[in-house]
Amino acid sequence: MRRGIRVRGAVQGVGFRPTVFRLARDAGLAGLVRNDDDGVWIEVEGAPEALEAFPGLLRARAPPLCRIDAVEVAPLAPLGEAGFRVAASATGLAARAAIPSDAATCDECLRELGDPGDRRHRYPFVNCTDCGPRYTIVRDVPYDRARTTMDRFALCPACRAEYEDPGSRRFHAEPNACPACGPRLELRAPGRPAATGDAAVSAAVAVLRGGGVVAVKGLGGYLLATDARDEAAVARLRVAKRRPHRPFAIMARDLAEARAVAEVDEAGAALLASRARPIVLLPARLGAGVAPSVAPGLPELGLMLPPTPLHHLLLADGPRLLVMTSGNVSEEPIARSDAEALERLAPLADAVLLHDREIHARADDSVVRVVDGRPLILRRARGFVPEPVPLLDAAPPLLAVGAELKATVCLARGGEAVLSPHLGDLSNVETHRFFAEVIERLPRLLGVRPEAVAHDLHPDYASTRWALASGLPRVPVQHHHAHVAACLAEHGRGGPVLGIAFDGTGCGPAGDLWGGEVLAVDLRGFRRLAWLRPIALAGGEAAIRAPWRLACAALLDAGEPLDLLARIPPPRLAAVCDLLARGVASPRATGAGRWFDAVAALCAVRDEISYEGQAAVELEGVAAPGEAAPYPFALAPGRAGTEVDLRPMVRALAAELRGGAGAASASARFHETLARAVGAACGRAREETRLGTVALSGGCFQNRRLSERCAALLAGAGFEVLRHGKVPPNDGGIALGQAAIAAHRLARGGGAAHVPRDPR
Ligand code: ZN
Ligand code: ZN
Ligand code: FE
Repeated sequence: MRRGIRVRGAVQGVGFRPTVFRLARDAGLAGLVRNDDDGVWIEVEGAPEALEAFPGLLRARAPPLCRIDAVEVAPLAPLGEAGFRVAASATGLAARAAIPSDAATCDECLRELGDPGDRRHRYPFVNCTDCGPRYTIVRDVPYDRARTTMDRFALCPACRAEYEDPGSRRFHAEPNACPACGPRLELRAPGRPAATGDAAVSAAVAVLRGGGVVAVKGLGGYLLATDARDEAAVARLRVAKRRPHRPFAIMARDLAEARAVAEVDEAGAALLASRARPIVLLPARLGAGVAPSVAPGLPELGLMLPPTPLHHLLLADGPRLLVMTSGNVSEEPIARSDAEALERLAPLADAVLLHDREIHARADDSVVRVVDGRPLILRRARGFVPEPVPLLDAAPPLLAVGAELKATVCLARGGEAVLSPHLGDLSNVETHRFFAEVIERLPRLLGVRPEAVAHDLHPDYASTRWALASGLPRVPVQHHHAHVAACLAEHGRGGPVLGIAFDGTGCGPAGDLWGGEVLAVDLRGFRRLAWLRPIALAGGEAAIRAPWRLACAALLDAGEPLDLLARIPPPRLAAVCDLLARGVASPRATGAGRWFDAVAALCAVRDEISYEGQAAVELEGVAAPGEAAPYPFALAPGRAGTEVDLRPMVRALAAELRGGAGAASASARFHETLARAVGAACGRAREETRLGTVALSGGCFQNRRLSERCAALLAGAGFEVLRHGKVPPNDGGIALGQAAIAAHRLARGGGAAHVPRDPR
């Protein structure tokens, strides 16, 4: 008998064909395997029992980087063929097969890296079909060497033999290379002779050991490295990067080294060692020798293990713990090209460690946190992109352009959505260029042209302006609707559910400022049921940078004196009071993030911020562990919905602080109050709507304490709780939510609202 087997998913460039070849040979089957536009096509011929077992074997023995979405079997006429072969790829114009994501060096390659007898001993670009660069080096599809930045390196006879041998781990490993034929390292430093190859590694190590900073070309961009135990070196890097507080990530030589400086539980260890090699946020061990400037004032460290052979070499020879932070200044995107690195990073670094394998697409390091024992991605980039998220609706190709901060874009086609890597803050000119680059690249990689664009309602977001100018039919999506839809999409759900959307500030349907919303949501629309009492933002944007202004507004709103803000210079305090009293330049916002800001300043944890979310992160950081009693709050029902009145909380909190209570207890009690408020508002909403499922989304659910307490209270009250995991709850997930909503609308014939070009 003969059968045809269609395998769909991320099955190209991951060693799938050699696996099929070995399995067929071992099972005594004849036939062929080849890549094509839809994935992998297999024909097998032989005994019925062997044919019967084969699809199951494919799933069970698939190589590690492979992701099988579907296996379909159809009968074929037997050909009487003998032997099994790997046939030439049959690829045309369409490219439905997925590009794999970049993967950390596998154990086999690592062994070769350290083996003096191996021809790839200490070769910083060793890789195979189980590991190495993918997304970041692909120029075009279908995925093969000629369409990657490896095209300039001709395979030497030894590498070619591996590349063509179905029995080799390097069969069609597109980035396959060795010291004889592959990329080469180079170190450039002022006042030093240029070093290449292993000498470049030694020279870089010498700079690091001397407390210097080295710009290192990684997978998705340049990182700035310096000894994480050297306070002077780390402090100097902070000044150079113009980044006073935002925590730096650390790369540790191995798991043992990570455990020496942080508490690594089982889930954390699994994430650290995973192929995506993200930065994992873990509780820091006090007195473990990490420089205080790495994560000033925070109880957690962002740790990662080496993702590439080059990083392994640097950490094996040099300091065992290196700060590894994006190669950029302040809010700019990560540097990608050598020219860019030499121009922009040279002033920040004592040496630049570069190589001639070009990075085609930028991807920052991803960031993950463990919440309730499960991974929660906070920044989705290297290692996860371009893994798709399935959508409920197969719509025409469409682009969702996301929000503004923590921007991402998303391309949906045929029932799945592919999110871009984290881009950054779109108000930055360089980041905007990155945004344009990705909008051009994603459709090319997926072989489609977007026929519609989904965007936020905020008229001043650069993403909205792009959508307006695009000339494509548009689907405007409200920000918090998109947050909740992103959470639904992750879970393969369409609602209706209750959605809690807690973030900083997003644009409401009438141009008002939302961010503390309880909504009834499905993919068609939403209804607002409840919200947190709004706080006035004295000075608008200025209030977002200065949490003390929000504390001032919260105290006045609650009828409290301002003695807790005695440390603020009186003229500044008076000016803000004046704005608030006159209601001038003081828009009111329901954002839960603004309540975090206000409470952080009331507790004297943070008066002014240098990065987005800083006050909330620090307030979470100081909270006393263990249970805490909530402060009082009230539900105030009205015609349009229910307001969660937090003024009783402000009064109780202020009284407690005046009585000498510390920030630790106040913060813990504030978290508990918000969680109880969510529980109470959902209880009330359930009576009204009969909905028993709650989706938690928005940037505030990066907060572990808030997320865990809300989930526990809601589950205790009989709710089913949906939370983020694979996609960030922050604005990095907005594009996915927009795509899910727009795909639904377009697939169900709702149509896009076509509005002519923006006259601006
Ligand atoms: Zn490998
Ligand atoms: Zn070679
Ligand atoms: Fe948001």
